[in-house]
Amino acid sequence: MSKPCSWNRIPDVTPKAAYHLMHRLDPIPEELPRPLTVYGNGRSYSDVGLTKEGSLLLTRDMNRLIEFDGYQGIIRCDAGITLAQLLEFIVPKGWFLPVTPGTRFATVGGCLANDVHGKNHHALGSFGHHVRAFELCRSDGSHRVCRPDDQEPWFAATIGGLGLTGLIRWVELQLISIENPWMWVASHRFDDLEAFWAMNASLESDWPYTVAWIDCLAKGQAQGRGIYLAGRHAGPQSDLPRYRSRNWEMPFDPPLSLVNSLSLKAFNQLYYKQKVCPSGKLVHHAPYFYPLDAIGQWNRIYGKKGFYQYQCVIPPHNAQAATSELLSTIAKRKQGSFLAVLKTFGEKPSLGLLSFPRPGTTLALDFPNKGQATLDLLADLDAIVLDAGGALYPAKDARMPAAMFRASFSDWEAFTPFIDPAFSSHFWQRVSL
Ligand SMILES: Cc1cc2nc3c(=O)[nH]c(=O)nc-3n(C[C@H](O)[C@H](O)[C@H](O)COP(=O)(O)OP(=O)(O)OC[C@H]3O[C@@H](n4cnc5c(N)ncnc54)[C@H](O)[C@@H]3O)c2cc1C
Repeated sequence: MSKPCSWNRIPDVTPKAAYHLMHRLDPIPEELPRPLTVYGNGRSYSDVGLTKEGSLLLTRDMNRLIEFDGYQGIIRCDAGITLAQLLEFIVPKGWFLPVTPGTRFATVGGCLANDVHGKNHHALGSFGHHVRAFELCRSDGSHRVCRPDDQEPWFAATIGGLGLTGLIRWVELQLISIENPWMWVASHRFDDLEAFWAMNASLESDWPYTVAWIDCLAKGQAQGRGIYLAGRHAGPQSDLPRYRSRNWEMPFDPPLSLVNSLSLKAFNQLYYKQKVCPSGKLVHHAPYFYPLDAIGQWNRIYGKKGFYQYQCVIPPHNAQAATSELLSTIAKRKQGSFLAVLKTFGEKPSLGLLSFPRPGTTLALDFPNKGQATLDLLADLDAIVLDAGGALYPAKDARMPAAMFRASFSDWEAFTPFIDPAFSSHFWQRVSL
């Protein structure tokens, strides 16, 4: 196995030891250098699953299905199973994940620990809302089964708890039913940010999945122009198309990032001009939910220096002004992002003490790592986010200052008593100084 790292390759830290958990009953070895950090499948753009001083507990081999109730759509599985493995089993049986991030290569444990969200947050909330139970194993050898209605707040501490409350052994999820593996997807072009807000307001209540891509290089009147995608699981169909997956692998690390001002401009213009289909069409769930998964190791296009993801959420009353200010700042610095994704979160309060999703608008961006110039830009974006009462997503952060974390995760002090004394992470050491 290659060295465990985060998806964006920053920071580059090496653990003292790495231990493969093969089975959910395996004890955590006492002799491992502490602190312990759980590593799922490294799909966070962040150091939440990394350690420099301690040991990684690797969960990918702890990946068995335990129980499935095909009538009620309830599944219990090891925490190291990936969403791809789950989908392979549940989709042919007419079930789907209630909430999925934009990659199916995340593990169920990683999704729980980051309380991930998907394109349907406004309809179904985040991952934690669909967890019926999980088993938490502490470093002292004790185990507890946690459920949402427990008196003790272990459930709330572990959902979105960044892997700090202990090792999650298994998870029980409530699935949603589907007719077939296809989606019905409508796409619309919008000319500016104003048009996005109007479109979102009119479409969101009818479509369970919504998301927009925006051209973050566009300035002036075209600021925030983009493509809006609204989807739902397809109803019964008499004749379904055949789906052929097309996968490609990024074969090497280019010496320099392939994402630069020229490629960004070309990509953004082409993407904006793509053919749209406002009346809707059938799209297989794989390219709809996981377009980036079609290019294996796509993170390599940024070269060895890696890249920063920046995902913020801004409360509703400030969302329009702050989103516009964020985009102006990015365009001014000419450090546009390949993938700029805009989406509104719904009102459903997250269940986790440290969960990121909260009512408001979330903007996610990727920036090639240009050293200090990128860090300076991100610090400017931080100031806008903080001023607007927003927060950054820990799963997509490799540099937020401790003060920003504390200001935007107000329950962090209530959370700390639940941290397992043997567990920590590079992220936690950085933000809890
Ligand atoms: C292409 C792409 C698209 C993405 N889209 C989205 C999106 O739409 N929405 C979203 O919310 N996120 C998104 N993400 C982020 C990703 O879904 C999360 O970071 C997810 O948590 C990664 O899971 P993982 O299994 O790789 O966990 P890792 O990244 O390995 O670990 C994540 C955290 O989970 C903890 N952890 C993992 N397993 C366990 C366990 N068994 N017990 C205790 N703690 C554990 C780790 O300690 C760490 O704190 C995306 C990532 C990629 C690469």
